[in-house]
Amino acid sequence: MTPREHDLLVIGSGPGGYVAAIRAAQLGLNTACVESEPALGGTCLRVGCIPSKAMLESSERFHEAAHAMAPHGVQVGSVSLDLPTMLKRKDEIVRGLTGGVDLLFKKNKVTRYAGRGRIVGPGRVVVESAEGAGGAPAAEIAAKHILIATGSRSADLPGVKPDGDRIGTSTEALAYAEVPKHLVVIGAGYIGLEMGSVWLRLGAKVTVLEYLDRILPGMDAEIAGEALRLLKRQGMEFRLGAKVTGAKTAKGRVVVSCEGQDPIEADRVLLAVGRVPNTEGLGLASVGIEPDARGRIPVDDRFQTSAPGIYAIGDVIGGAMLAHKASEEGVACVERIVTGYGHVNYDAIPGVVYTQPEIASVGRTEEELTTAGVAHRKGVFFFRGIGRSRALGQIDGRVKILADASTDRILGVHIIGARAGDLIAEAVAAIEFGASAEDIARISHAHPTLAEAVKEAALAVDGRPIHA
Ligand code: NAD
Repeated sequence: MTPREHDLLVIGSGPGGYVAAIRAAQLGLNTACVESEPALGGTCLRVGCIPSKAMLESSERFHEAAHAMAPHGVQVGSVSLDLPTMLKRKDEIVRGLTGGVDLLFKKNKVTRYAGRGRIVGPGRVVVESAEGAGGAPAAEIAAKHILIATGSRSADLPGVKPDGDRIGTSTEALAYAEVPKHLVVIGAGYIGLEMGSVWLRLGAKVTVLEYLDRILPGMDAEIAGEALRLLKRQGMEFRLGAKVTGAKTAKGRVVVSCEGQDPIEADRVLLAVGRVPNTEGLGLASVGIEPDARGRIPVDDRFQTSAPGIYAIGDVIGGAMLAHKASEEGVACVERIVTGYGHVNYDAIPGVVYTQPEIASVGRTEEELTTAGVAHRKGVFFFRGIGRSRALGQIDGRVKILADASTDRILGVHIIGARAGDLIAEAVAAIEFGASAEDIARISHAHPTLAEAVKEAALAVDGRPIHA
């Protein structure tokens, strides 16, 4: 095999692509990965999950220091914001983690190509120099298998053109050089609520414009309703049923217009109305792959596209646009190539919104079960009944467990409350193992922990919680 011949070439080094590349190398494939950005890790590590979590963590510390210490008997003097340090810390975390992927590639002998990969025929990819990729010369690579893991980008909204300054996407919202006076967020989804929370805590007035009459579409409605109430209590403003029709910038201000409503003025606008797959410039036509109407690449249950030997995973194939879903698919895809077996259980993919409190869910929502006519029982337990919540000083929220009415098998778990993103792991395991609510109810949960709310909600499915 010459240096430019590989068993597998992965296009894209996000959590789908880099994890697939490492797993493939572990399985003995001569693996390479082509990435157009200077840093590995994709949107998630560079301008998504990781930097947003760094900013959420830091902004929460600031908010707590300013507003939440006195009840603990901790007196703090005046609290002031050092935004440049906060942003620098975020950048260092990103640098550390993207550099870590580099090291993992070296350790696993995954060859890295810098540039933009374009398929030019079956088993053939050209790597073209991409701006920022160090001006790598065009090279042709031969690979038995090609895996497309190019992710997604922020969706457009007609009339709202990101200018990289006043009107931007989450990338800009992760790096505003000063706290906006008024941030208007378009879209009450994951990104809008997380980035809105960051700047709200740091002192901005935040108004969220949402097209639907609810926030967090797709999440359990009862939990989303509770999230709306708690976010409003923190001072986040919402206009629901607001169809944004345009945004115009003049003299450093932006005027956002909404159908049938008064326009709203802001100094920053964050566009967060979803994401669309990155399929342009990939040379898909050269191998006869046709994206569907929403730009997604159709694949079969092995993640193979219509072109033999060419696979796709993650945001480019649709389904939940989540880093861990892409990683699972990457692993399943390469395991299937090598071992003949690989599988993703889409009923057990959790989703977490890192607001305060966090919102986490896995499995089916109450609305989905009702619409599908699945007879179910519901157990709800409120964190205010948990000792650890009281000690933590975070008593908001609830755990809701939905179980099949006849078999008691857990079908969905929805949590809003402190550390919900960690608590959901138990529910994911339960669904993966086909557990019943009774199983969770009979498992010993350490006391005092927040996880006791999960046990109590499981007991509540059978109408016998202890602390309610
Ligand atoms: P989203 O799909 O979560 O939410 C977009 C929101 O915009 C929806 O509520 C939608 O109704 C609304 N909207 C659409 N058109 C509108 C209009 N014209 N005016 C007003 N509102 C409008 O999308 P997102 O928040 O942009 O996130 C994109 C993807 O990234 C999501 O699929 C999400 O899974 C992923 N993500 C995940 C995390 C996480 O796991 N914590 C964090 C950030 C992003």
